[in-house]
Amino acid sequence: MKVYNAMEPLVAEALNENWSEMNIPCKCEQCKNDVFAITLNNLSPRYVSKGNGIAFVKAQYFDKQMMANIYVRIGEAVKRVAENPQCENYQR
Ligand SMILES: [Zn+2]
Repeated sequence: MKVYNAMEPLVAEALNENWSEMNIPCKCEQCKNDVFAITLNNLSPRYVSKGNGIAFVKAQYFDKQMMANIYVRIGEAVKRVAENPQCENYQR
């Protein structure tokens, strides 16, 4: 069995587009993945059973309200990672 979380590509897109302007001390891949994971954990998933279902969900939910919600969650995740970075740049 295989399902896809349609929120995943939406969050990835929002994160990729805005990553360079985010208020986070470290911009490495690990920190980005941490923000990505935390954001997805705090958003209700939208599971679809086909990869092409993502386009459908995307079209249906690609509105200002949902994107605003995604950006709020990304902001929260960025704050958490900024306060407690897990990547090796901060391990001593
Ligand atoms: Zn980092």
